[in-house]
Amino acid sequence: MASQITFIGAGNMASAIFGGMIESGYPREAITATSPSDEFLAPLRSRYGIHTQTDNRTAVVNADVVVLAVKPQIMQSVCAELCETIQARKPLIVSVAAGLPAETLERWLGGDLAVIRCMPNTPALVGAGAAGLFANPRVTTDQRELATQLMQAVGLAEWVDDETQLEAVTAIAGSAPAYFFLIFEALEAAGTRLGLPADSARRLALQTAYGAACMAQHSDQSPDQLKRNVMSPGGTTERAIQVLEDAGLRQTFLDATDACAKRAREMA
Ligand code: NAD
Repeated sequence: MASQITFIGAGNMASAIFGGMIESGYPREAITATSPSDEFLAPLRSRYGIHTQTDNRTAVVNADVVVLAVKPQIMQSVCAELCETIQARKPLIVSVAAGLPAETLERWLGGDLAVIRCMPNTPALVGAGAAGLFANPRVTTDQRELATQLMQAVGLAEWVDDETQLEAVTAIAGSAPAYFFLIFEALEAAGTRLGLPADSARRLALQTAYGAACMAQHSDQSPDQLKRNVMSPGGTTERAIQVLEDAGLRQTFLDATDACAKRAREMA
């Protein structure tokens, strides 16, 4: 029988995950989601056919897995509300909240719990996420598999052995969609400056980014080799890459990701 999964919070991230799970065949009857407002839950019931609850405690009574998907600022009060019920059954806890360490969540929920901390990114909302996952020592192999299944429903799931590695995941995946959006913005502006209509420049830039990612994913060649394949000696691409290298783009990415990881450490 499928594990009973309860999502505490039914916002963007939770609905992306349970939506993806249902699409990949997980039984909708085994999924419950909560929110303080039934007005908010009613459309989710009709769209996904899942169970919903406005009472968090009732929702976790029979749960095998509890996915914490509320904003980090209210997590402590939500954990305080759930603590007693969670301790009675000790389900697997999966948190998608940014910045909250597994140990803190475990403590807020009364201790002695299997906790998985997950660092997802926004492309999960379109089924193309990239998430890092960390399990505390109480998590069993079966629970790891279930969490992998959960996150693979919305994209890639990569396990890390050390929780601090989630800072690196934040730097190159969690926050990284924004780096690419910045590049899209810059390419669109460049296209219009060089004479293209803005909408056409945007379409070309986005499709090129998508194509480059697809090619890199399906190729046995390294990104460096794929880059060289586009660069004929003395050609246009070589000229552009030279400008980017001379401007220190690689170092800029190292500095940006260092700053991101440092901020993740400060917030933990
Ligand atoms: P959201 O605002 O879309 O969803 C939060 C949900 O929590 C809302 O539906 C709200 O009704 C519900 N809620 C509020 N108070 C509640 C309570 N007391 N009990 C139960 N539910 C309650 O936010 P989101 O973007 O889905 O973010 C949820 C979590 O996911 C956050 O911790 C965030 O750090 C994490 N996260 C989100 C993203 C993202 O791209 N959206 C990326 C990485 C991590």
